[in-house]
Amino acid sequence: MKSFLVDQDGYYGEFGGAYVPEILHKCVEELKNTYLEVLESEDFKKEFDQLLRDYVGRPSPLYLARRLSEKYGCKMYLKREDLNHTGAHKINNTIGQILLARRMGKKRIIAETGAGQHGVATATVCALMDMECIVYMGKTDVERQHINVEKMKMLGATVIPVTSGNMTLKDATNEAIRDWCCHPADTYYIIGSTVGPHPYPDMVARLQSVISEEIKKQLMEKEGRDHPDYLIACVGGGSNAAGTIYHYINDERVGIILAEAGGKGIETGMTAATIQLGKMGIIHGARTYVIQNEDGQIEEPYSISAGLDYPGIGPIHANLAAQRRATVLAVNDDEAIHAAYELTKLEGIIPALESAHALGALKKLKFKPEDVVVLTVSGRGDKDIETYLSFNEK
Ligand SMILES: *Cc1c(COP(=O)(O)O)cnc(C)c1O
Repeated sequence: MKSFLVDQDGYYGEFGGAYVPEILHKCVEELKNTYLEVLESEDFKKEFDQLLRDYVGRPSPLYLARRLSEKYGCKMYLKREDLNHTGAHKINNTIGQILLARRMGKKRIIAETGAGQHGVATATVCALMDMECIVYMGKTDVERQHINVEKMKMLGATVIPVTSGNMTLKDATNEAIRDWCCHPADTYYIIGSTVGPHPYPDMVARLQSVISEEIKKQLMEKEGRDHPDYLIACVGGGSNAAGTIYHYINDERVGIILAEAGGKGIETGMTAATIQLGKMGIIHGARTYVIQNEDGQIEEPYSISAGLDYPGIGPIHANLAAQRRATVLAVNDDEAIHAAYELTKLEGIIPALESAHALGALKKLKFKPEDVVVLTVSGRGDKDIETYLSFNEK
């Protein structure tokens, strides 16, 4: 049977793999040879599950959104990752990876961050586990995301502003990789999404797969069947989407809809719609679609949502799109903003701007009244209030 999960060599179809400098080859090999054994051990599972329950607050609710259902003519459930500790799904991944790092005997944790959400989730688990934490962040982002920088510092992390390139996420990632090259023996690099060299995309997908594991149980209770007709999630690098679809990926009864950031429109050049506009390339150690110019230089993406503002895409999703297993829609800034106001007014839930892109896809879809739809609200909107207010929609 055709599988959309990773193969023996770390590929999803023609996407993925591990394209790393010679000096990191050993680190990536070590991780590859360790992660499955650790993630599948009883000892890891016990500690991970306990922290997800008592620290993160899982399981997150699966909420039947009555007014949203009426509006879109289906049975619409929201998977409430916004209710997690630290306000989004990212904590599921950082807890899993720090438990792995500890079991590998690593002493020093490094991470890259764009908007600062992954940096905060990493600094949080480092405080929890009493481990040294260094976060690389583009200088432009340090200035734009002041509150998250202060949170990371309060949590005990060292934030290093990166001044190369455009001083954003891509440059922070390069710097984190450089650090890893210099300290391969004692340092563990926590990547924040289903990106990077194999085994990261598969590892992050597995750690986030708790989302679809819960959806299965919750739908069984509420609907008497364990699968929906459609799953909808936003994609930056693709981790909340990977978690949402993981246990349904080979189940063709379930439609998969991914919302990427259209920015100001895919034809404007100010966009982060990587799946629609990207060409095959290598980014952060993986072969995947990349927004690049004719010389193969990575172009700066744009989205109103910092979490979706990434010039690559997880190889798992690139393959789902190439194989037409998933439908990919570009949702523009204004459509996302409108959808955020709509959810707030209909259901009393202020979503993160990223999640608002998943909601913005609803207007582009047609459902049957009996369709069961699950949409993942990846995070809460507290961090985005100023952006929302600047649109001041009545
Ligand atoms: C970071 C972030 C995203 C995008 O990351 P993925 O890896 O694509 O999930 C989406 N939603 C929220 C709330 C985020 O913080």
